[in-house]
Amino acid sequence: MISVEEALGILLSNLPERKVEEVPFQAALGRNLAEDLVATRDIPPFHRSAMDGYAVRAADVEHAPVELIIAGEIRAGGGIPRKLNPGEAIATMTGAPVSEGADAVQIIELCRISDDGKRIRILEPVKPRENIAMQGSEAKTGAVVLESGHRVGPAEIAAMATFGYSRVKVYRKPSIAIFATGDELVEFDKTPELDQIRNSNAYCLSSQLQYMGFEPDYLGIARDNRDELHRMMLLGLERDVLIITGGVSMGEYDFVRDVFKDIGLEILFNKVAIKPGKPTVFARKGDKLIFGLPGNPISALVTFECFVRPVLGRLCGMTQPELPRMKGELLADMRQSPGRTAFMPAWVFWQDDGWKVEPLLWKSSADIIGFTRANATFIFPKSRDLLRRGEVVEIMLLPDFFVRQR
Ligand code: AMP
Ligand code: MG
Repeated sequence: MISVEEALGILLSNLPERKVEEVPFQAALGRNLAEDLVATRDIPPFHRSAMDGYAVRAADVEHAPVELIIAGEIRAGGGIPRKLNPGEAIATMTGAPVSEGADAVQIIELCRISDDGKRIRILEPVKPRENIAMQGSEAKTGAVVLESGHRVGPAEIAAMATFGYSRVKVYRKPSIAIFATGDELVEFDKTPELDQIRNSNAYCLSSQLQYMGFEPDYLGIARDNRDELHRMMLLGLERDVLIITGGVSMGEYDFVRDVFKDIGLEILFNKVAIKPGKPTVFARKGDKLIFGLPGNPISALVTFECFVRPVLGRLCGMTQPELPRMKGELLADMRQSPGRTAFMPAWVFWQDDGWKVEPLLWKSSADIIGFTRANATFIFPKSRDLLRRGEVVEIMLLPDFFVRQR
């Protein structure tokens, strides 16, 4: 059985080529650029005053206090000020161009205006360039300001607006279909018979995809028979990525693998040494990727985060889409039978001088209720059968770690 790391290696070596689309710049939020963006003008476009004050020649105020003649006033957007002669000062507002001939701005707090309003007393010297943002000091025309692959957040949107990029190229989001499998499943708005349960995985996975910014198509529930699975899979394969839950275990009615073969999918792995989630299957057909995730709710949730997220994130141009990891101190002894890397639900919190990892009681890989208490999972290495209280363990944060409160 392959390890989690080997599975990840297989996934990453089977990524289809990423596709590119052009979108209005505001729609690029949360996407990754598929082109370099260059500065279309110098920023600042002129020597810009960073403060409200008086533009002066630093040499004139070297022996301050000194008095200079007020030669005008300039505000942001108020045109270009006239040239400054020796012995003069120009009242200059924040964001306004600094007059040619001036090389510094003294802040208003260190200036005193004369009674007749014609002269300004500069109380202290200023150094050349003080309080001036020089033309092109933030970006020079033609310089790459955002590189291809760069993730777009609010600051990047501001940069696009600054340079007048009304449309930009980003990596396309793959289209994604999901369906659930199982004769026992009914939808959430039905009352299950005693032998039935409500389908929760399709909604859990849809939410995980939505957290990543995708809008998956949910195709419904396929019953445990080959024809229905076959039909549903062909439908799902019209999208770039198909995610199926259930039917991949070793039971008599777990037909998903068989139907993968019927359809001619190339199965790239069909078991991973992970707990929960051992029966996870990954297949492809040309550029289409297919994930067969286990039916147990936590298995589906965890294998999505470990295997599906890294793939989908990369298709969108991310370089490191994996959930963040860190280390923390385990607060209780934990046991497991070795052989598989386990992702155990935990509540992780900061106390005193570090992250603490409180393992959560959960009944099994079916226990979605237990998992609702988690903000992270900690990783139980596959070579170990006992982790002792006080040991430092690796933690994988869940996507809403930073907003989840107990
Ligand atoms: P399977 O992988 O099909 O053998 O299913 C494993 C377990 O997960 C069984 O107890 C199923 O009833 C349960 N299960 C399968 N699919 C779902 C689903 N969509 N929602 C909730 N539980 C499921
Ligand atoms: Mg099943």
